[in-house]
Amino acid sequence: MFCLPPMRCLLCKKFSFSHICTNCQGTFLKPTLSSRFLTDDFKVFSFYRYSDIAALLKTKHTHIGAAIYKILAYNAMKKFADNFSFEQKVYAIGIDDHSKHGYAHTAILTKALKSDIITPLFATLRASNNVHYASKSLSYRLAHKRGFIYHDKSPKDIILVDDIITTGTTILEALKAIEKAQSTPIFALTLADARDL
Ligand SMILES: [Zn+2]
Repeated sequence: MFCLPPMRCLLCKKFSFSHICTNCQGTFLKPTLSSRFLTDDFKVFSFYRYSDIAALLKTKHTHIGAAIYKILAYNAMKKFADNFSFEQKVYAIGIDDHSKHGYAHTAILTKALKSDIITPLFATLRASNNVHYASKSLSYRLAHKRGFIYHDKSPKDIILVDDIITTGTTILEALKAIEKAQSTPIFALTLADARDL
């Protein structure tokens, strides 16, 4: 007989079939949408405050990261997609969705957006420089560009997807790469806004 390994909910420590039990997902992972303008007419929407889910986001460099990101994607991205309407079909693109530790965290988030209106695209926007921005200043980020290469040549309406927005440098650079290819980024979605860091 197939048996799931016993595990404890990371948050309440009770036995659960998932890394975060259904109760805790309902209580702690209920998104509160916030937004900020990155340019005059481009908005980034975030589902959580960074400080509220920081411990979960930090799992992305560990073996349970893929499972945790699937849970976050389900509670934030999928629920957003279920309620999203737009006059035409749009495409969701994860920023730099190359695989590290056996999975790509932005690909997990992007995949959860799949709906009748949203089509996720993968391996479409990749950084050519492997710079790490975590805990780096704005001046460092501006001086060390990610060098995004956008691989899709046909014009589309695009939702950009990332896990965290801090200064916004990465999303702005991605935005420019897409605009250069005559596509239209309509807004960006991130799990968490870390503007207060
Ligand atoms: Zn729990």
